[in-house]
Amino acid sequence: MRIGRKHLMLDTSWQHEANCLGVDPDLFFPERGASTKEAKEVCRGCVVREDCLEFALQNGEKFGIWGGMSERERRRIRRQRALARAERESGTA
Ligand code: SF4
Repeated sequence: MRIGRKHLMLDTSWQHEANCLGVDPDLFFPERGASTKEAKEVCRGCVVREDCLEFALQNGEKFGIWGGMSERERRRIRRQRALARAERESGTA
């Protein structure tokens, strides 16, 4: 969990139950090309995983592992959601 100033208005109460509390934050921000396996392992057993992922998606978090997903995986979800939204708005869905 890495909460910047711009996030202060959002509900962050879920963070108190985060599995990553006390875990080295660097684990969640691996160098480019480094393994994300350990961070994802921590996330796997996290009871607030969905809240964390949604928080990152809503905030456009570009870096790190959130909700067990990498930047690339979150980008894919954002694209899918944008596509679904566009289809709904155009009435093709
Ligand atoms: S899903 Fe992962 S990064 Fe998010 S709160 Fe849980 S352990 Fe931390």
